[in-house]
Amino acid sequence: MKCKICGQTASINLRSHKTAFCDTHFLTFFEKRVNTTIRRYKLIGDGDRPVVAVSGGKDSLSLWVFLTRMGYAADGVYVNLGIGDYSRVSLEKIKAVADRIGRKVFIFHVADVFGRGISDVAKALRRVPCSACGMIKRYVMNRVCMDKGYNLLLTGHNLDDEAAALFGNVLYWKKEYLWRKDISLDEREGHLSRKAKPFFLCSEREVAAYAIISGIDYIYEECPYAKGAKTILYKGILGKLEETSPGTKLMFVKGYLKELTEMKALNQRDGEASGEMQYCATCGYPSGGEECGYCRTLQKFELPYSAGFEEYG
Ligand code: SF4
Ligand SMILES: [Zn+2]
Ligand SMILES: [Zn+2]
Repeated sequence: MKCKICGQTASINLRSHKTAFCDTHFLTFFEKRVNTTIRRYKLIGDGDRPVVAVSGGKDSLSLWVFLTRMGYAADGVYVNLGIGDYSRVSLEKIKAVADRIGRKVFIFHVADVFGRGISDVAKALRRVPCSACGMIKRYVMNRVCMDKGYNLLLTGHNLDDEAAALFGNVLYWKKEYLWRKDISLDEREGHLSRKAKPFFLCSEREVAAYAIISGIDYIYEECPYAKGAKTILYKGILGKLEETSPGTKLMFVKGYLKELTEMKALNQRDGEASGEMQYCATCGYPSGGEECGYCRTLQKFELPYSAGFEEYG
């Protein structure tokens, strides 16, 4: 197989795009595609101050490096869950990338604020670790935007993540989640920052290739709590479909985005209100009741409100 651009031996064959590239031309192809996505869906504007949610994995670190290469001045934010070696190694990889690209990263230590790691926080809340983790991460990522003057939170979710989540939502008809997924989400001024996912249309394999060719040292291990997650099963099923019909995942997710756009236009035409949002009395974060989940968790441990970050870089 030869590179479509220069004719040298190809290092990556992209069956879903019916093409193949050498390392150099794959980088060009990948960056051009992500830039097109950013423009087409208006993910990052001229006056934006973005911050990247980094985990130490290939997706978020690749996004961080990509943005820097494209001239976007983006800092990072990391939530240290306090999961032994997994968290320690993740943080090392993040700091190495921060040094390489000359950007700073805000680090939130769950154990410093809650007095225990995520697994014990979850136990006390009678939730599974992923549920407590999701709640704290969403809160902290938003907090760094509000407190440190960023207006846009970027995450490294890729096509496989989105296709698997969509598949699960359709399979069980989880209507409450189904139409909430989007490539970008609007802000609520003073409460919630805007969010966007520039790798939404890039497969996991493409992002991994981008990371490896770019020499990004990322953590290969998954979080220990990811084991047995349904999304891993869905990714496997979708991967089999992709093998026999290349391009299926991309078609599935792009088709969803198109339906979503039409649906939003219809809702706007019908003047459907997005519903009154309530905000936490202590911190101002959107909440279902008087206090948000984060503040309720602190109260449960009889701790005062706190959301401090260590700054690195
Ligand atoms: S797998 Fe780990 S990082 Fe992911 S949501 Fe669960 S606890 Fe958090
Ligand atoms: Zn080439
Ligand atoms: Zn709150």
